[in-house]
Amino acid sequence: MSKKLKTASLCVHAGYKPKNGEPIELPIIQSTTFKYDNSEEMAMLFDLKKEGYFYTRLQNPTNDAVAAKIAALEGGIGAVLTSSGQAANFYAVFNICEAGDHIVTSNEIYGGTFNLFGVTLKKLGIECTFINPDASEEEIQQAFRPNTKAMFGETVSNPGCRVLDIEKFARIAHRNGVPLIIDNTFATPVNCRPFEWGCDIITHSTTKYMDGHATQVGGCVVDSGNFDWNAYADKFPGLCSPDESYHGLTYTKAFGKMGYITKLVAQLMRDLGSIPSPHNSFLLNLGLETLHLRMRQHCGNAQKVAEFLSGDSRVAWVNYPGLKESPSHALAEKYLPGGSCGVMAFGLKGNRDTAIKFMDALKMINIVTHVADIRTCVLHPASHTHRQLSEEQLRAAGIAPDLIRLSVGIEDADDIIDDIRQALDNL
Ligand SMILES: *Cc1c(COP(=O)(O)O)cnc(C)c1O
Repeated sequence: MSKKLKTASLCVHAGYKPKNGEPIELPIIQSTTFKYDNSEEMAMLFDLKKEGYFYTRLQNPTNDAVAAKIAALEGGIGAVLTSSGQAANFYAVFNICEAGDHIVTSNEIYGGTFNLFGVTLKKLGIECTFINPDASEEEIQQAFRPNTKAMFGETVSNPGCRVLDIEKFARIAHRNGVPLIIDNTFATPVNCRPFEWGCDIITHSTTKYMDGHATQVGGCVVDSGNFDWNAYADKFPGLCSPDESYHGLTYTKAFGKMGYITKLVAQLMRDLGSIPSPHNSFLLNLGLETLHLRMRQHCGNAQKVAEFLSGDSRVAWVNYPGLKESPSHALAEKYLPGGSCGVMAFGLKGNRDTAIKFMDALKMINIVTHVADIRTCVLHPASHTHRQLSEEQLRAAGIAPDLIRLSVGIEDADDIIDDIRQALDNL
């Protein structure tokens, strides 16, 4: 198996490799614990001197096979599954930051991550500066401090559908001696592989397209192995100096390029938990097996729906990277030539109530908080996720009061457009 498989083949074959007579589909090893014949062997495992399974909070064969598939899809050297996308973003940062440290992040990110970085990390003593991703390199540079440890952004932002200039971010991060962490949830490795553009660490909410069927909440952290932690050893003592809780072992010395991922498992998973259930990982793997097919359909449908919306006189605006008028169109052509994602935002002429009337008239399309699902879903943040905010607060949070978030599914595009058209006719 020396030939490098293409993405579609990796979706189907990467990770689990059945041996002679073994099940063709990934087995669910729903066991917390693994048995050993003598105590010496078990002791070696605890000292990280030998590889093997002993407790599912640290490693589990089902979880590891799915993590290996995502690592292969992203072109990384290793990955860890987490119980949610939130846990993935927290671990990716907390693995290299501690109280007194600082991170720089795009302000065009998922609301949950915005809170995690701006509120919860602050309580742990880690400060965060939010920057406009479209600002000049000089402006963004001013956000960096001597204690900055990471830079963060989303390939395609949720819900704004803004495409990140990954090369620009990587240049700035590396000039400052810190890794670039990218949440690649909306693009998925089918549409963009951020490591190829200089990103160092990738996170995912696997809850979205990777699962795709709304069956499990999960996350993943993938390491490219490209960031040279030892070149900035003073900045990353957690990786480059002895860990007293592991008999003075130094992760980058003992595990080389796998130091970051090993520390995340051996330290963060050990102390904080947040692993997925093996059964959930099995469901995630079923989703991954068809990810390449579904992304093609999501993107093809979304392009047709976006073009329909932008041509309808009752629609005030549409934001989808696949439209020529989108501010992200040029970046999408560079980083996502095969399509961006199935999510878009648009507004109707009228007021807040117009959006509600439109949504209530939809027949096939579901009103749910979820996105990136096989079913077309719609949400009005001003009336749902952000309903406690005033119009001013909404605008400050970058959400237009009339913004409708539409996540286009894999149904027939004609049916999706017909449903939208009849709801518009109803206004
Ligand atoms: C949903 C989402 C998250 C959070 O993931 P959960 O699995 O819901 O915890 C993080 N980042 C992005 C881009 C998301 O869309």
